[in-house]
Amino acid sequence: MRDIPESESEIAGIVSPETTRSGPKSAREINLSAVQSVVETVRSTLGPRGKDKLIEKPDGEVLITNDSETILSETAVSNPVASLTISVAKAVGQEYHDGSTTAVILTGALLDAAESLIEQGVAPNVVARGFERARQCADRSLDDVMIPGGWNVEVLTHVAETATTGTGLGMAGSDVATLVVEAAELVRDADSFDPDRIRIVTQTGQSPATSTVSRTVALAKDPVRQAMPDEVIDGRVLFIRGSLELSDTNQKTSIVIEDVDSFTRFHEREATEIRDLAGRVVDLGADAVLCSRSIADEAQSVLSRENVLAIRQVDEDALNTIAASLGGTVVSSVTEATTDDLGSGDFRRDPDDELFCIEGNGEPRPTIIIRGPTQGMVDELSQHVETGLEIVAGASDGGVVGGAGALEVELSHRLRRAARGIDGREQLAFEAFADALEQIPQTLGENAGLDPVDALVSLRTAHASGDRWAGIGENGDIINAVDTNVYEPVEMKRQVLKSATEAATLVLRIDDVLTVDALSESLSSD
Ligand code: ADP
Ligand code: MG
Repeated sequence: MRDIPESESEIAGIVSPETTRSGPKSAREINLSAVQSVVETVRSTLGPRGKDKLIEKPDGEVLITNDSETILSETAVSNPVASLTISVAKAVGQEYHDGSTTAVILTGALLDAAESLIEQGVAPNVVARGFERARQCADRSLDDVMIPGGWNVEVLTHVAETATTGTGLGMAGSDVATLVVEAAELVRDADSFDPDRIRIVTQTGQSPATSTVSRTVALAKDPVRQAMPDEVIDGRVLFIRGSLELSDTNQKTSIVIEDVDSFTRFHEREATEIRDLAGRVVDLGADAVLCSRSIADEAQSVLSRENVLAIRQVDEDALNTIAASLGGTVVSSVTEATTDDLGSGDFRRDPDDELFCIEGNGEPRPTIIIRGPTQGMVDELSQHVETGLEIVAGASDGGVVGGAGALEVELSHRLRRAARGIDGREQLAFEAFADALEQIPQTLGENAGLDPVDALVSLRTAHASGDRWAGIGENGDIINAVDTNVYEPVEMKRQVLKSATEAATLVLRIDDVLTVDALSESLSSD
């Protein structure tokens, strides 16, 4: 980001007449209201009682969602500070696909709290510094209160459930969570697992309840020729990142065709070369070949005749996964392949599902098969499954905390206690940070139809008397989040606090907004 000169005299000479300036006070006002408008967009979606938003896209497509990452991606904003807030939501979402709404609300609440401190005469940079100290303090409290990770199937299922509540897509959060943990269990190594080892495949046409975890790699593809075998047991398999076409192996040269004969000769030579490529697959001893791109017609004929199963257009992700699970190596062309590159295993066809189930002696690579009536629905469900996988990976690695706003109230309680030992203006920043955190349970309460002030008072009392996980239940009652199995990964919460604080302090440090209004006009008149 570029530095904005502080003094009037410095800037007078460099700002063109088309540039309007706001000055520090109104800059803060503009920024605050920009952030608040982003907050207002997503506020009502927070929590299990959050409402959905209907978005009509410019192309007329209608989207119904309560995922703030999606909502904000589809919302056009022109204000740079609003875009900044949106990128915070996305940054949080990128890692876990969760926590975005919380991060946005917290950013807004921090800026709100900062504004009243600034009005009391505390300099914005002092507030910013105080916020960062408060965040560090909250971060240490997180270590104190968290419940250590580990492979506890019940807890992990509940973590995934909390992250995927409100799917409303014919599949309860608990069903999504069960699929996620079942698949994770198949690839786990002690207390952790790599979510990338699990593939998600979507299929339209059946009910979401028929979604399932396959221990094998599921591939929704057909053989290139019907005559090819659709079952290969204990076969050898070649994986090509590329095609079985001439262009991949030979440089294309331009030739001058003088007569029909030379054209035919040229064509025949090409066909022979393609058949040779296919012949090479056969010579390697492959019973099946998978290509990420196309397979030429002549090559298909040869392979079909030789009873080799050939599948084309296998996306690279699937290709790598299948190679890993069959213990093979992906090669970039058949000419460089050796028998060592082949994997081995079974291909079975499930005619009802139009899927190949592929299994070998390599790494376990399960597939979560998501089914639903429409593509939009399966896409959204698979997004939830992806979220669940990231969340479960984070929770088993790093541990969990109680959700339902309980963590935020507990951190707020601890920050206020810590503030007592701090002098001066920083104490005010700690208290402001504590206030901001309470916006989360307050919003959860509001969305559940509670009087937000009453709810907050009861929560504060509970936490002051040591009920660390008191939060707002789905029905608006005060619950113990851990007793009612509302868990969230501690690392996700850490990331939310960090991103929101970073965004708020960044905005606080801006003391001027320069808007170049007439840029396009001046460009066109040049
Ligand atoms: P975000 O984008 O921040 O994840 P969500 O709309 O998913 O926003 O809401 C998350 C909040 O809802 C968290 O504070 C979480 O603890 C809370 N929450 C989720 N499920 C429940 C539940 N069953 N009961 C109470 N609170 C819940
Ligand atoms: Mg969420």
